[in-house]
Amino acid sequence: MQEFIRSNYVDDWDDRHLRVGQTNEADLINSVLPSSCPYCQSETIIRKGMNGNHIQRYLCKQCNRFFVPTTGTIFDEHKISIREWISYSLNILRYVSITADSWNNKNDFKTSRYWLQKLFAVLEPYQAGIILSGKVTLDETFYTLRSGDIELKPDGTKPRGLSMNKMCIGVACDTQNIYCVYEGQGKPSQRGTMVAFKDHIASGSTLIHDEEKAHKKLVTTLNLVSESYNSKDLKLLDDKKNPLRRVNEVHARLKDFLNAHPSFIRDELPGYLNVFAFAMNPPHNKLEKMEVLLNLAFQNRQIIRYRDFYQAKSKVVDDF
Ligand SMILES: [Zn+2]
Repeated sequence: MQEFIRSNYVDDWDDRHLRVGQTNEADLINSVLPSSCPYCQSETIIRKGMNGNHIQRYLCKQCNRFFVPTTGTIFDEHKISIREWISYSLNILRYVSITADSWNNKNDFKTSRYWLQKLFAVLEPYQAGIILSGKVTLDETFYTLRSGDIELKPDGTKPRGLSMNKMCIGVACDTQNIYCVYEGQGKPSQRGTMVAFKDHIASGSTLIHDEEKAHKKLVTTLNLVSESYNSKDLKLLDDKKNPLRRVNEVHARLKDFLNAHPSFIRDELPGYLNVFAFAMNPPHNKLEKMEVLLNLAFQNRQIIRYRDFYQAKSKVVDDF
């Protein structure tokens, strides 16, 4: 995979729009070994010849259907070419907005939006496995909602108080990784904080935080060693001596990242947070990172699920 990324990530647009047969895409696809059938998830699959594009075909012994490693993934039937996907993803990870990316790649804006949804889908499970340990720094940051995204009260007026117009994003980090999560509008709650972080911090870790009351339940539930600081005292400290320095730096990077995508809507925030965490966490080597992303993309077979859903729906219509 790294060889493919190296030879295909080029800045020149003409080079980027080569046809499948002109690249080593078939070799890359054949290097992916599917572990199960994309249609019925059975693991009794066998190799069965090559298709016209020199791509390995597989046969499922359970449902008798043929497939290739890209079946059901975002690369199925070349809706998205793998080389363009790599360059698109690298741009998003480098904080290039989708408006700028569609201009760079001469893709229209709608295509860029579509690809962004695919990137969100591929990275949706990414943060699920993150468990921070050791010294964990935790703090919330707030992002102002666009006026159209503010949920109005039943009487149609805007909620009072500045904090309700803000999205609360909880960020925790140890020395290696970060985990970030949208906690909802307004101030964090004890229950909200617990739900957001309980599966992502190892019990017994040390929690370095401010004296925010909302963290109490999390501390007791996970048996954390609490090391808390008064935020007024922290403001007087030199940045380098601030015990919350790591999380403060992540907040600053997150702000830059979200500002690079100013047109996003609230519902997309969790998707952007997954992309941000993926960009910030190891591996930091570009080739290794893209390899992880490609592997996630090959494992993600959402298109099949969507088709099944769609076929099930049209079948109901047929029955009428
Ligand atoms: Zn099958």
